[in-house]
Amino acid sequence: MRFPERTYIDDNYGVWDDMDDPDMVEFYHQVQKENVEKKCEGCGQTVMLRPDYGFCNICADKRERGWDL
Ligand SMILES: [Zn+2]
Repeated sequence: MRFPERTYIDDNYGVWDDMDDPDMVEFYHQVQKENVEKKCEGCGQTVMLRPDYGFCNICADKRERGWDL
C-alpha cells in the first residue's frame, strides 16, 4: 500500500487527519521528536511511541473495540 507523500502517519495515532492545519503539522513534528523506541505491550513489535504510551495505534484500536491485550 502506498501513501501519498503528504500523508502523516506514526505508531501513536496511525494516519493523522486535518494536516492542512499548520498547527497540526507542527504538533506532528513535535510528537516525532518526543517519540521513543519501545516494545508495544500488545503485539510486542518495536515501535516509536510517545514516552507515556504503551501500545501502538493498532493495539490501541483493538483495545478500544474491547479486545483484551
Ligand atoms: Zn501493538
